[in-house]
Amino acid sequence: LKLLSKNLSQIASQSGRATVRVPTYDRSSVKEGVVHIGVGGFHRAHLAVYLHNLMEKHGVRDYAIAGVGLQPFDASMRDILKNQDHLYTVIERGADGSSANVNGAITSFLFAPDNRQAVIDKMAHPDTKIVSMTITESGYYYNENTHELQAEHPDIQHDLKNENSPKTTFGFLYAGMKRRHQLGLNPFTVLSCDNMQKNGSITRHMLVSFAKLANPEIANWISEKGAFPNSMVDRITPRTEKTDIAALAEDFGIEDAWPVVTEPFMQWVVEDKFCDGRPPFEKVGVQVVKDVHDVEQFEMHKLRLLNGSHSALGYPGQLAGFKYIHEVINHPVYRKFVEQMMHKEVKPLLPAIPGVDIDQYCNTLMERFSNPTIMDQLPRICLGASGKIPQFIMPSIAEQIWGEHNFRRLSFVAAAWFRYINGVDDAGNKFEVDDPMVKELQAKAKAGGNKPHELLSIKSLFGDDLRNDERFIKEVTTAMELIAKDGVMATLPKYID
Ligand code: NAD
Repeated sequence: LKLLSKNLSQIASQSGRATVRVPTYDRSSVKEGVVHIGVGGFHRAHLAVYLHNLMEKHGVRDYAIAGVGLQPFDASMRDILKNQDHLYTVIERGADGSSANVNGAITSFLFAPDNRQAVIDKMAHPDTKIVSMTITESGYYYNENTHELQAEHPDIQHDLKNENSPKTTFGFLYAGMKRRHQLGLNPFTVLSCDNMQKNGSITRHMLVSFAKLANPEIANWISEKGAFPNSMVDRITPRTEKTDIAALAEDFGIEDAWPVVTEPFMQWVVEDKFCDGRPPFEKVGVQVVKDVHDVEQFEMHKLRLLNGSHSALGYPGQLAGFKYIHEVINHPVYRKFVEQMMHKEVKPLLPAIPGVDIDQYCNTLMERFSNPTIMDQLPRICLGASGKIPQFIMPSIAEQIWGEHNFRRLSFVAAAWFRYINGVDDAGNKFEVDDPMVKELQAKAKAGGNKPHELLSIKSLFGDDLRNDERFIKEVTTAMELIAKDGVMATLPKYID
């Protein structure tokens, strides 16, 4: 059955099929209180699920989602959602089997290149209380070295010159805020759900910096009255494959052109800092915390352990010719490597959080990585590395150096990424390097050969401390030379005790 509002009750009651849960609230009468930029897999498996659960189980009616796509490729999401009444299926795959839930939280979708003003008007609508986003790490125009907005970036320059037809998230946020200011409304809360430490604080700094360049009065207003909660987000959500679409039709009888596949686990820790109200997130299992320090600690655990380990599996795994995360983690040598990296090099750096057992957290991660049913693709894990490695791996290395501890395995991961940048695996097969900085990275990798100096000279990615630290340079150079000479599989055992 095609996924459409009119087919929902039939979809829920197809005989001889596994049970499907469908929205039972009246989607035509809900208000769109959330505008979300970047309706990809993760948003549809995470925030949209929490909001759907609030509507389904707790009668919340003011926080449906208007999706927004800024990128040319978001046209497919626009077309597919429009074609199925903005409904989609969340397929949860765990060790015990799969379930399918139709999500109704998204009720419209605006594709910015169709009508940029419509996006600005939606953000300025009085019903809009929150503008949330999952725009990937590269969507922030954040300079890792100076911690400032990349104000000279051509996209940012374009938006400063074209206030009413912006391209970037910050151009749109600014235009939406400015309109609200003119209308005498409050600012909306800007809620980043991207994997970045201090995602809210960075978002605030990027937007206020942009606004200062455009109109200092608006910048002051945003700074004084706006809210930018920090949050830690977690739910492994691979890219949807054709086989997932076929399996959904076969097992659950649903014809959905773009379902989302995810794991049963989900977590969201969010700072309680909203300037114009918020949904009662606590009712659906969100950890809403008063103190920003609490979020930062959860973020640090998650980014350094989960995302750091993903990087440790991703770049070496891709070089060795693996395709999926579970294949890599189920290889005994990789398993030991990642376990030892977590326990010996990352865990000692992490703060204790009351009620959180770090060893148990690590064990759960190993189980989640080993889940063979969600088929998490290495190219997904590896993409956009220039926004990831400086967040997930480099801070642990820097802190280990200050403490004069062990950072061999972390350095091996950095070396594997440097090798990966060339786009050729250990067997000589080419693969695509999907990174907004790919040209610069590849030029530096080529110029540097098996030495890291050229890559480490990219100021926007690497702080001066690391670039000039002899112990780090030595470790990375050794790993790069070993990988180049013998390949990842033969080198890895040297990094295991
Ligand atoms: P996806 O490829 O399915 O979707 C990415 C979305 O980001 C698209 O809607 C795209 O339009 C938008 N986008 C990309 N670059 C942009 C830019 N420069 N400006 C504005 N929008 C932009 O990816 P996804 O799985 O949804 O992941 C998105 C982000 O969510 C990740 O980068 C990460 O920060 C966060 N996240 C993902 C997962 C996961 O397991 N997939 C888990 C935790 C957090």
